[in-house]
Amino acid sequence: MEQAASFAEQLGLELNEMGGIKTDSQGRTSVKGIYAGGDNAAGPPQLVIAASEGSKAAIGVISDFVEDTF
Ligand SMILES: Cc1cc2nc3c(=O)[nH]c(=O)nc-3n(C[C@H](O)[C@H](O)[C@H](O)COP(=O)(O)OP(=O)(O)OC[C@H]3O[C@@H](n4cnc5c(N)ncnc54)[C@H](O)[C@@H]3O)c2cc1C
Repeated sequence: MEQAASFAEQLGLELNEMGGIKTDSQGRTSVKGIYAGGDNAAGPPQLVIAASEGSKAAIGVISDFVEDTF
């Protein structure tokens, strides 16, 4: 996979072995405060996966805000 936009590189985000933005299970990237999901992160490129990852990233954001884990 090739990143269509240059922001991942500009922000210094670590990529996974597929060329997507590397995230944990709640969308956290290698840079604190930056979250990713969908086609720019994981594969395969499917709407339902992108929606699911967006939802999980939202949980990650909320979790980090309240400094708790779900
Ligand atoms: C032709 C085609 C057919 C498909 N058919 C199916 C299907 O039948 N079923 C299915 O499940 N999936 C299908 N997909 C895949 C599905 O569309 C994607 O997996 C899904 O849209 C990914 O969502 P996303 O939010 O990650 O990315 P996207 O939907 O691509 O959204 C990314 C958004 O970011 C914007 N953007 C890009 N760069 C920048 C930037 N630098 N600054 C600001 N904004 C930026 C883009 O304009 C875009 O609006 C298809 C894809 C294509 C191309």
